[in-house]
Amino acid sequence: MIYNVAQLLKGSNGVSIDAEIDGDVVLDSEEFRIVEPIEGMVRLQRVTNGIFVEGEFDVTVEMTCARCLEPFEETFTCQLRELFKPTIDILTGAIVHEQSGDGDFYIDDHHQLNITEAVRQNTILALPMQPLCSETCKGLCPMCGKNLNNEICNCAETPSEHWNALKSLTFDN
Ligand SMILES: [Zn+2]
Ligand SMILES: [Zn+2]
Repeated sequence: MIYNVAQLLKGSNGVSIDAEIDGDVVLDSEEFRIVEPIEGMVRLQRVTNGIFVEGEFDVTVEMTCARCLEPFEETFTCQLRELFKPTIDILTGAIVHEQSGDGDFYIDDHHQLNITEAVRQNTILALPMQPLCSETCKGLCPMCGKNLNNEICNCAETPSEHWNALKSLTFDN
């Protein structure tokens, strides 16, 4: 996911090229795992401050359902809108920005623009706080632990002993 933008940097503001997104990103997460190559499109546009990257990509992630604890996959469509600043001036070779680790994105000193980290960050933004295999996932029975999507247990219909005692008390009165 690296693009050489030397020609674009030499161009005038507004000039753009379209390119494919196709590659792998590691999320560095125990909960979420990307299972297929990421695919999409980006437009790289020359702007005053550098190159503006705008795109859309699909990412398929494997995760664990918060209710039934089964692994499942879901494909998210993510947006990408980031400004990449040059580190050196394309014409003079002078340093114009130090890469400062302040969260901004930079084009390296060979005029390579690498969107991998931006794709990773935008993927994380799309991930759910509480993954669900389905909105209607029934989850696990709190009594016997069975996955209620696959089988029905009788726990809910069996009154607890506590409840029985209460019932007999009422009848006595
Ligand atoms: Zn589930
Ligand atoms: Zn049960």
